[in-house]
Amino acid sequence: MKIIVDPKKCRGSLECIKICPQQAIKLVNGKAVIDQTKCDGDGICIPACPNGAIQPDV
Ligand code: SF4
Repeated sequence: MKIIVDPKKCRGSLECIKICPQQAIKLVNGKAVIDQTKCDGDGICIPACPNGAIQPDV
């Protein structure tokens, strides 16, 4: 599963960064960016985002 961040919804709350076991998420210009080479697609970050900014890429 590929996971993507909607930058329009991301508020830079850091919750996803704290929870990601792969350290795959960084903040770039205040928005979460997922390094797809590190992400294993477990989706832990999806419910962790208080703004619903992280979704599976369908
Ligand atoms: S899906 Fe899992 S590995 Fe990928 S960015 Fe989210 S928490 Fe990290």
